[in-house]
Amino acid sequence: MTGAPSGAEVVTRLLRADLRGQTAYGAPQLDVPVRLNTNENSYAVPPDVVAAITAAVGECAGGLNRYPDREFTSLRAELATWLTEQTGVSIDAAQMWAGNGSNEVLQHLVQAFAGPGRVAMGFTPAYSMHPIISRTMGSTWIDGLRGAPTGVFDLTTGSVLEQVRRRRPDVVFLCSPNNPTGTALDLGVVAALLEDAPDTLVVVDEAYAEFARPGTPSALTLLAQHPTLVVTRTMSKAFALAGGRLGYLAAAPEVVDALRLVRMPYHLSAPTQAIARAALAHRGSLLAEVEAIKAQRDRLVQELAAIGFPPVPSDANFVLFGGLADAGVTWQALLDHGVLVRDVGIAHHLRVTAGTPEETTAFLAAMARLDDSHRVVAGMNSPRSQGVSA
Ligand SMILES: *Cc1c(COP(=O)(O)O)cnc(C)c1O
Repeated sequence: MTGAPSGAEVVTRLLRADLRGQTAYGAPQLDVPVRLNTNENSYAVPPDVVAAITAAVGECAGGLNRYPDREFTSLRAELATWLTEQTGVSIDAAQMWAGNGSNEVLQHLVQAFAGPGRVAMGFTPAYSMHPIISRTMGSTWIDGLRGAPTGVFDLTTGSVLEQVRRRRPDVVFLCSPNNPTGTALDLGVVAALLEDAPDTLVVVDEAYAEFARPGTPSALTLLAQHPTLVVTRTMSKAFALAGGRLGYLAAAPEVVDALRLVRMPYHLSAPTQAIARAALAHRGSLLAEVEAIKAQRDRLVQELAAIGFPPVPSDANFVLFGGLADAGVTWQALLDHGVLVRDVGIAHHLRVTAGTPEETTAFLAAMARLDDSHRVVAGMNSPRSQGVSA
């Protein structure tokens, strides 16, 4: 009796060998009162921006019979204006690229500059999508390490140059402020790497740049002198537009031009372009809560330290904290109290997003309710990574 093969059998037979047994990106999307697990902006899009977005989408609806502007010309110019305004670095439209979230922009970079037969590298723990995108596009991924010698999650120039010299990757990912640890990277490390590795494309993922503490320069300040540098940004975090799916990058015009070889034609839909442009035009209103979120971030750092769960210094809208006996057990206990945080796979640590004051209060109250069994006992507080999933 030979019936039709099951779906599982078909997939085992037909799926790419390197994808068998892999797990998909999977931050839980649970319906709980306090969601502090994916670093979204907790503040809803304000009414004036809702009105502008609605009008803009309405205007483009009648023209949806035509393909959108493949070059998203107006959006690129407006993104350049925004970056120039935010950083004081003069950036023009020819240096800009965008995609459906910065994840797509990262995918374009990997497709053009890494991929089969090539090597991409990052420094763990960092953003889990860097290895996932690199591998699914056929690149060999190298897990560089952060840590020694200065502190648990620090990345020093000496360590980066040594690891990159040894592995000679085609693309290196740096994340600043780093997800999931939260701290911005010393710009001297980026500058030294650009000088030392002229045959490597250096991608600095600045998804959280708008939340950095004062005096934290952007890698965009290095762009003019370094054609091998790419800086990626997103409207998903500070701009409160995660659902709009708009990420972007700045790089040398020639690097941007190479991305046209790999993108799908018309990859940015007309509504996506309209939504992003309306949001950018109202950026003052959308970004209004950034300072309030930073205040909650600083409150989390202070209060977690005070109750004995050591936080990592943060330039982002989240805080990684340690001192837990078993991160998974505490994650579940917080969820039982209606608070969803993120277990990023770093032993004894969890990551919490800075949201509204009420959300911070609910999280801290849930933490205060934990009994002593949640606390690490002396000698077991090694932050060794167990497959980071930030
Ligand atoms: C959230 C995040 C992104 C954003 O991804 P989008 O696709 O733009 O939503 C990119 N990089 C890092 C490090 C992030 O944490």
